[in-house]
Amino acid sequence: MRLHDAYRAVAQLCLILALATAAIPALAQSPTVTGVRAGINADATRFVLDLTGPISFDVFVLDNPDRIVIDLSEVAWELSADSQALDAGLIEAFRYGLFEPGRSRIVLDVGGPAAVRDAFLLAPSANFGYRFVLDLAPRAAGEVQEASLQATSVVTDAPVFEAAAWDGPPLPAEKPALGARVIVIDAGHGGVDPGAIGASGAFEKDLTLAAARELRRLLEARGGYHVVLTRDSDIFLKLGERVDLARSNGADLFISIHADSIADSSVRGAGVYSLSETASDDEAAALAARENKADLISGVDFVNVAYDPLTTNILIDLAQRETKNASSEFAGLVAVEIAQAVRLRSNAHRFAGFRVLKAPDVPSVLLEMGYLSNPQEEADLRDPAFRERFMGAVVAAIDDYFASHPQ
Ligand SMILES: [Zn+2]
Repeated sequence: MRLHDAYRAVAQLCLILALATAAIPALAQSPTVTGVRAGINADATRFVLDLTGPISFDVFVLDNPDRIVIDLSEVAWELSADSQALDAGLIEAFRYGLFEPGRSRIVLDVGGPAAVRDAFLLAPSANFGYRFVLDLAPRAAGEVQEASLQATSVVTDAPVFEAAAWDGPPLPAEKPALGARVIVIDAGHGGVDPGAIGASGAFEKDLTLAAARELRRLLEARGGYHVVLTRDSDIFLKLGERVDLARSNGADLFISIHADSIADSSVRGAGVYSLSETASDDEAAALAARENKADLISGVDFVNVAYDPLTTNILIDLAQRETKNASSEFAGLVAVEIAQAVRLRSNAHRFAGFRVLKAPDVPSVLLEMGYLSNPQEEADLRDPAFRERFMGAVVAAIDDYFASHPQ
């Protein structure tokens, strides 16, 4: 869509929805901005504000340096201190505040000439209040940027940005045991999905289940842990269901266990992964892509968008930052402890967009125990004594983590 067409479309929406807009009662107080997030959606950078009420807005583009300015009817702000660290897609920095009485302003620093593809306000839905949505794209050479895009409370019911919504089971109420840390262990793959297949035919799904059970046994023997397995049999679970189980059980930690397989049979070593918007390296990105295909491989044609990086590219929700930091910290501890027990890849802690790690409130890591394509590692992982040593090191990492995270 050409730029001015986009503007025209928005203007038409504005007219079409004028009645709806007029129906919104005037608020006694200014709406409050309660959240801000950005992510990559298709080929656009999407910027979203969560609001407690409707607003009018005016978006314009500035050059030298490249910025996007969003003027809003006056709003109050309830954003966490690190909100200005917003950095996704074209957006490099974010500032906000009252510009003049009756008008608030947001300035986005963008990484190059940008065009406004769309800007609109969404009506509240089941999972969200009002949202202001802005889509940005790189501006093509020679493309004329219209001076300004204005709208007054364009409210649509378009189903956008639902990816951040939680549509799984209700959040857990209580922890099951007094003071016990809840560890949810996820044996990767299962049922119709064998996962990787080893040099001599071992299935990843069987080795992950054996390791998960061993980790449970060791944690229960240690005491102070309440352990839940996402599966304790050879059944298929969708990636989203695994995340649901972490949340519905009130997990303090979620550990998804896997083993990889690649063409080069000489490659070996364990690695641990935590979630990131951008992969630490191409190899980690390729691994995440393989693991994320589990649902498709298993004939699930409905992919829950809440976990689909292809549609959301992992939304950067500032509320999730603490969880991501905790996940990264725990992954680092796992890498340190398992180094005592098994061989590691170089850069044993890496980052990528694994769908199974996307619980917004549960620190989560994915442990790749090794390469089934390497005959020695396949044999190791089939050996109960090896698994005991390996999982014992994971227990040590879990102890380490809670030592610095008191109840
Ligand atoms: Zn796997």
